[in-house]
Amino acid sequence: MTEMPDPVLAPETFQRRLLDWFDVHGRHDLPWQRQRTPYRVWVSEIMLQQTQVATVIPYFERFMARFPTVRELAAAHQDEVLHLWTGLGYYARGRNLHKAAGVILDAHGGEFPMDIEALAALPGIGRSTAGAIIAQSSGRRAVILDGNVKRSLARLHAVEGWPGRPAVERRLWALAEHYTPDERLVDYTQAMMDLGATLCRRGTPACGRCPFADVCVARARGEERRFPESKPSKALPTRATRMLLLRDVRGRVLLEQRPASGLWGGLWSLPQFDDEAALQAWLDTQAPGSRLEAPRTPFTHVFSHFRLEITPQPARIGALDSVGEARRWYDPQDPDSIGLAAPVKALLDSLSPFSLTAPAGP
Ligand code: SF4
Repeated sequence: MTEMPDPVLAPETFQRRLLDWFDVHGRHDLPWQRQRTPYRVWVSEIMLQQTQVATVIPYFERFMARFPTVRELAAAHQDEVLHLWTGLGYYARGRNLHKAAGVILDAHGGEFPMDIEALAALPGIGRSTAGAIIAQSSGRRAVILDGNVKRSLARLHAVEGWPGRPAVERRLWALAEHYTPDERLVDYTQAMMDLGATLCRRGTPACGRCPFADVCVARARGEERRFPESKPSKALPTRATRMLLLRDVRGRVLLEQRPASGLWGGLWSLPQFDDEAALQAWLDTQAPGSRLEAPRTPFTHVFSHFRLEITPQPARIGALDSVGEARRWYDPQDPDSIGLAAPVKALLDSLSPFSLTAPAGP
């Protein structure tokens, strides 16, 4: 495979076609297109990774209302940041955003370092996001290659291979570099994102409306859906867990904070156990006299690398001397502002108000 681009169009022709299409059909009124500061572009770019625009908009608005600048974000507690992220998924993005805000404050005096290497050195910022921040907030030339751009370029040039392979990724970067103009960077960058998001979509692309329909190699071959190639697949393994829904006499539920890194890092979750015996042993030592109720119907939560089969296990507390450092009582009727893993939030939301009864006896 050659690493040099074999462009189907001269860059000027590509840019003109793309920008003419964008001027008429592109998105011009997204919340992060107003006041394009590096901070707002950065937050929107991170939220848009793996998530659709329509989903991101209300999250972005709430985030900006609470943390209008990088200083407020850096000063916040991680719990509050993750609370505003609850439901968006991929929580490492929220943790990294918070961490990077701290670095921007401490190492850069609260100003975004506006070069690719320095930006890409911040937690959670890759080369493409760094390019988007520079191009969209300053109008300076910088190249992006996010998921949408990869898909469009892979189809336009029928680039063989999974883009996660370094050789394929290098080829796509070379194409992205080749087509990026010296002017109108703000519009060009948005136009490339819009092309992938609204025409060259993941499912069925709208080739009939595409400004490159006459030169697109994948379309000419009738193979639009074959590009970009998928990651060689492996069947997802399944893990099982029991989640303890331990409630006190006021109907509050015991939560535990997950370790800072790893699955649902830093989020609040229900105590988890591999099986019923482990759960019972924990109750016997930590909350003696508690009474198990009938388990709820199991359900599955799918992560990118495995499936988690969750069995909710309700229980009434007998006695619990102290909840300890990384635990808290959570009142579903008067919820705290904390980050919750999505299936845990769904479970807590499904709890009915609790009748005030005496704790279960031994
Ligand atoms: S012609 Fe179709 S497949 Fe090719 S770039 Fe346009 S939308 Fe994508």
